Amino acid sequence: MKISRLESVLEQIQTPAYVCEEAHLEENLKLLDYVQQKSGAKILLALKGFALQDTFYLVKKYLHGCTASGLYEAKLAREAFGKEVHTYSPAFKDSDIDEIIAISDHIVFNSFSQWQKFRPKVTGRLSCGIRVNPEVSSAPVALYDPCSPNSRLGVTKKAFKEELLEGIEGLHFHALCEQNADALEMVLEGFERNFGSYIPQMKWINFGGGHHITREDYDIERLIRAIKRFREKYNGITLYLEPGEAVGWQSGALVASVLDIVENGIPIAILDTSAEAHMPDTLSMPYRAEIRGAAVTNDKKHTYRLGGNTCLAGDIIGDYSFDEPLKVGDKLIFEDMIHYTIVKNTTFNGIKLPDLALLDKDGNYKVLKHFGYEEYRRRN
Ligand SMILES: *Cc1c(COP(=O)(O)O)cnc(C)c1O
Repeated sequence: MKISRLESVLEQIQTPAYVCEEAHLEENLKLLDYVQQKSGAKILLALKGFALQDTFYLVKKYLHGCTASGLYEAKLAREAFGKEVHTYSPAFKDSDIDEIIAISDHIVFNSFSQWQKFRPKVTGRLSCGIRVNPEVSSAPVALYDPCSPNSRLGVTKKAFKEELLEGIEGLHFHALCEQNADALEMVLEGFERNFGSYIPQMKWINFGGGHHITREDYDIERLIRAIKRFREKYNGITLYLEPGEAVGWQSGALVASVLDIVENGIPIAILDTSAEAHMPDTLSMPYRAEIRGAAVTNDKKHTYRLGGNTCLAGDIIGDYSFDEPLKVGDKLIFEDMIHYTIVKNTTFNGIKLPDLALLDKDGNYKVLKHFGYEEYRRRN
């Protein structure tokens, strides 16, 4: 368990704020680098899950580059990160493709029709790949399962066009979500069964994201063995992993304040944050956010329902119990709120976007970005 120093700066924090702990982020990066060193794989940051650019000075010390899902992520990768830029999109647009080609090192197409369409433009300019669907489904919920039935993501064995492979240098799959190395082994079995005969003619293979490498119970040695076995089997082929969540995993918190406490069958605390706008996966995954010092209903003496400060009836974070009664002005620390939160934020209902902040290794609190009314005005 990482030791957090957040409480020592709690008084300085203007809420709501996402606070990334530099030391935690670096611990994750060191673990990912260990995987790189031991396995020979190259690890990229998937910007979809974590794009906190003011931390890229640190991330780029360890990782090989970024994975982008379209023009804007590719631009951020090129401008703020540098190193390798790998761009995949479910479908590329004519209006974006020239710029994407100019700033990317790899481009991955989601279909043979897109590959054929853009082939004259991309040939000779960057390394091209095809995303395949290994059709091994193991992700926890359908919303996050790229291999669910009728998935639009990746070419199935049935739709694969061997005759169009000339010029394709890599195969890409992304089939996991918050999973361990055993799930990767299962996906690899399907991938090799369906597409193994094409691997020897490839320069690289990309195992996608969803590897929960920095989670405490992740079997890192098993991952390293799986990668090494694969690389040995295919003549030391270049291999990429592109996790997002594992980079930002447990690297910081969202700090919010209690604004009011109302009563309707249960005491309800209204906070200056929102499940809908600031922690959307609590509603869409759904999962229960951890709050420092709090427990489940009735486990501790004082139970509250925690609600967001929007007018959406369902903007409820959940029910939590505390040792002491909550008071207006109390600050609550929502754990593990750095990945898949900031990148999904909205100004729904005119709610303020949380500050982005860093707690550095020396214990200094720095606001990186502050957002005001302008963000809402411009977008509506
Ligand atoms: C979402 C995504 C990732 C990152 O997934 P994590 O679960 O955040 O590790 C990597 N590659 C692709 C193609 C993705 O769509």
